[in-house]
Amino acid sequence: MLRVSRYMQEIVRPTPATGRRAEPPGPVVIWNLLRRCNLACMHCYSISADVDFPGELARAEILSVMEDLKAAGVPALILSGGEPLLHKHIFEIAARAKSLGFHTALSTNGTLIDLPLAGRIAATGFDYVGISLDGLRATHDKFRRKQGGFDAALNGLRLCRDMGVRVGLRFTVTQGNAAELPALLALAEDERIDRFYLSHLNYAGRGNVNRKTDAALRTSREVMNLIFEKAFHYAQRGVEKEIVTGNNDADGVCLLLWARKHIKDLDEQHLRAKLAEWGGNSSGINVGNIDNLGNVHPDTMWWDCTLGNVKSRPFGDIWKDTRHPIMAGLKARPRKIKGRCAHCAYFDICGGNTRVRAMKVSGDPWGEDPACYLDDAEIAA
Ligand code: SF4
Repeated sequence: MLRVSRYMQEIVRPTPATGRRAEPPGPVVIWNLLRRCNLACMHCYSISADVDFPGELARAEILSVMEDLKAAGVPALILSGGEPLLHKHIFEIAARAKSLGFHTALSTNGTLIDLPLAGRIAATGFDYVGISLDGLRATHDKFRRKQGGFDAALNGLRLCRDMGVRVGLRFTVTQGNAAELPALLALAEDERIDRFYLSHLNYAGRGNVNRKTDAALRTSREVMNLIFEKAFHYAQRGVEKEIVTGNNDADGVCLLLWARKHIKDLDEQHLRAKLAEWGGNSSGINVGNIDNLGNVHPDTMWWDCTLGNVKSRPFGDIWKDTRHPIMAGLKARPRKIKGRCAHCAYFDICGGNTRVRAMKVSGDPWGEDPACYLDDAEIAA
C-alpha cells in the first residue's frame, strides 16, 4: 500500500530520510473470518455467498489464533470476510483484539450498519472502519448487484463517522467505474471521510501488451494522475485527509515521475529516498492473509498459494518458514524478478510489484508484473 499523502507531505514539508524500513516482527494480517456475505459483488475475490461455509474456525479457535498472532509480533488485524459483521462473534473477537493491543480495523460493505450497530462498532473501539464504494449510486448498485446498496453503505459510513470512528472509503477502480473517481473524491471530501483508498483491480490481465495503448493500463495511469493532484492539493492546504493506493506498486514510481514533471524545485533525491524506504511490494513480509478456513497466504489475492494452516501450526512458525519456495523468494532482498522488472531503474521503489499477477499470466511467480503501466522509456531512467 502506497501512502500517497505521506509522500506529498514530504514534498511540501520534507523530513529526514532514515534508510530502508526495518522488517517488522510480524505482518499486518488481513483476516477473512468468514466467507458468508449478504452481497454477491462482481469483483469479489473470495467468491462469497449468503450461506455458511463448512470448516471455518470456531470462536475458541479464533481467540486462540489471536494469541499466536500476538506472539508472532503482528501489529494490526484487519477483520474482513465475506461480510465480517455477519460473524456471530465479531464484537467479541474485536474486543479481544483490542485488549491484546492490536490496531483493529473492520473491512465491511457497510450495508448492515444501522444506528445500533454503529454504536456497537464505536463502543468496541475499532481503530478504523473501511467501507467499499464502487462508484456513484447506479454504478455501485450494479457492481454490488444490490439495489439500494450505495445508500445503505453511505449511511453506514456516516453513522460510524458521527460516532467518532475513523472511517475510510475504499474504491476498487476498473475501466467501468474510473470516470466516477472525481465524484467519489468529492464525496469523500464533502462527507468528511478521513481516508480514501484507491485499490487497483488485481486482475491478471495479459502479457506483452502495448503499455501506451492498452486501455486498462492507461486507465490506471490516468486515475493515478488524479489521485496525485488531489493528494498534493491537500498537502499544500494542510488538510489532514489520507489518500492511499494498493495492488499496484508501480504507483510509487509513478508518483516520482509525476512529481518530477509537476513540482517546481522538487528535491527529487529526497523524495526518491523516501519512496525507497517504503520499498514497494510487501506480500509475504509485512502483509499477510488468513482465510476463513485458517489457511495462511502471502496476501489476500493469492489464495491458491497456501503456506500452512493456523489450526495445526502457530502463525509465527508458518510465517517465518522459508522452506516454502514462494516465501523464500518473497523474503529475498532484493527479490529476484525477471523480465522488464529486472532492468527497471526504479526497482528499489517498486520491488517488482505483484507476484500473483505474474504467476497468473506467465505461470512464473518471479516473472515481470503484467499490470505495470509505465512504458519502457519511463523505467529506463
Ligand atoms: S518495471 Fe517492474 S519494477 Fe519497474 S515499475 Fe514496473 S512493475 Fe515495478
